[in-house]
Amino acid sequence: MKFIALTIFPEMFTSFQEHGIVRRAIERKLISLQTVNIRDFASGKHRVTDDRPYGGGCGMVMKPEPLAAAIRSAREMAPSATVALLSPQGRRFDQTMAGKLKSLESIVLLCGRYEGIDDRILHDYVDLEISIGDYVLTGGELPAMIVIEALTRLIPGSLGGESSAEKDSFSDGLLDCGHFTRPPEFEGKSPPGVLLSGNHREIDEWRLESALIRTVLKRTDLLEKRTLSRREVEILKNWQNDIEKIIRAQSSPGPDSPSGVK
Ligand code: SAM
Repeated sequence: MKFIALTIFPEMFTSFQEHGIVRRAIERKLISLQTVNIRDFASGKHRVTDDRPYGGGCGMVMKPEPLAAAIRSAREMAPSATVALLSPQGRRFDQTMAGKLKSLESIVLLCGRYEGIDDRILHDYVDLEISIGDYVLTGGELPAMIVIEALTRLIPGSLGGESSAEKDSFSDGLLDCGHFTRPPEFEGKSPPGVLLSGNHREIDEWRLESALIRTVLKRTDLLEKRTLSRREVEILKNWQNDIEKIIRAQSSPGPDSPSGVK
């Protein structure tokens, strides 16, 4: 997959592409990452890319001419590319969107600055607006890097272990299970014994339960949207039975029961 970032701060991408999974994916030729400096397409001695907003008010707006020229230049490098503007007003980026975008041949990521870009560019040059969340950052460079890394992780061969991305949170609608590593005892706590048992069926079963309980406790909304497997429904029903037992014991006073519900 080809990524082209349009930015006035291309140097922000230097360290990003020299480390970790992005670097490995570039070395393995699974992705390429090029930056285009929008400033190179600005005219005049000072190559100014922003100007005061029509209508007055504070802040500056990115001028349309350098943006249009930079996008045209990126399109020459990747004629079939989707042009995505990073914007807090865009569609919220999530694992499902990442899964869809990863099959694109190429994507141009337009990084805004100041108050944003001249709206005429949005209408005529941009195919998609992507937001990384309901908060406002100073520029689109960090959001672009987030999108690049999330998509790269999904490209087969980019991760060390081929299956790791499939088990990550959100990939099948659940949060990931708990993870443990050596030492076997840390500050008096040990990992669940089943993980040391070598019994892979039981380990898979524990991991599913762990993923389910985390999702129930932290992100119930994910379960509401998801079609559960028969086994997952069984696990939830078992917990429901256990929880109901505890509640019944609390509400029916008997010789062994606690003093009652407070
Ligand atoms: N005035 C704009 C607004 O309120 O919608 C915000 C402009 S922001 C200060 C400057 C640039 O940062 C944006 O053009 C965009 O490229 C980027 N940006 C800021 N927050 C973002 C977010 N949550 N997701 C994606 N890009 C963001």
